[in-house]
Amino acid sequence: IVFPLQKLERYLAPGTDTARFRLFQPGLAALQRAEALFRSDRGHPIDYVSSAVRIDHAPPPALPEVCFVGRSNVGKSSLIRALFSLAPEVEIRVSKTPGHTKKMNFFRVGKYFTLVDMPGYGYRAPQDFVEMVEAYLQERHNLKRTFLLVDSVVGLQKTDHIAVEMLEEFGIPYVMVLTKIDRASRGLLLKNVLEIQEFVKENTQGCFPQLFLVSSVEFSGVHLLRCFVAHVTGNLPTVEA
Ligand code: GDP
Repeated sequence: IVFPLQKLERYLAPGTDTARFRLFQPGLAALQRAEALFRSDRGHPIDYVSSAVRIDHAPPPALPEVCFVGRSNVGKSSLIRALFSLAPEVEIRVSKTPGHTKKMNFFRVGKYFTLVDMPGYGYRAPQDFVEMVEAYLQERHNLKRTFLLVDSVVGLQKTDHIAVEMLEEFGIPYVMVLTKIDRASRGLLLKNVLEIQEFVKENTQGCFPQLFLVSSVEFSGVHLLRCFVAHVTGNLPTVEA
């Protein structure tokens, strides 16, 4: 449940290079530290801060920030809910109604970092939406890492490729998160993981070579993702096993 990607290693042919399966492999202490960061208490509030439709309405860029992007229905709100499950008072706003204004939602994790839920992009993203996301990604100076969510059942779709092209063009570091892994059979998951790994290796420069696999239903991969967020926002002194 902690390292779902590594669970797939035993299906690989002997001699396969597994380096990309274990680049980020934190030890128990780091996992526990990350867990504590995501657990709210009186001295460490975790809160929804605000929503913005334009970058100039975003909260001041005071803390290290991460953002989550992906096409509609990829499982983004479910994943953010899972990440914040230790802070049940956090309200994850979802604006799914067609025609409803799509906003960037900002969450603040104590004095440590902010997390942004970007509006899900659709088959035909309206121009103002594209402009909002592009402006944010290009101008947000405290943005440490972008998490691009991809459905593990269907693999990379056309809209995902457009997102990858955009991130590559901007030259900002990002990481791919494969969602809903409880819905993919082992065989399908392995196939999609290997295909996407190969795609990342051959076609990207800014994407972290290790994929993150998650299920918001079974909670697999959620602890590791919390730890990676803590790491990229500079909140883990050490991650060694
Ligand atoms: P969003 O549009 O990206 O915010 O997607 P949602 O989080 O609303 O999820 C879209 C649909 O996928 C919903 O029906 C969820 O219940 C389902 N879903 C999301 N994450 C998972 C998961 O990890 N496992 C399974 N089985 N279903 C999921």
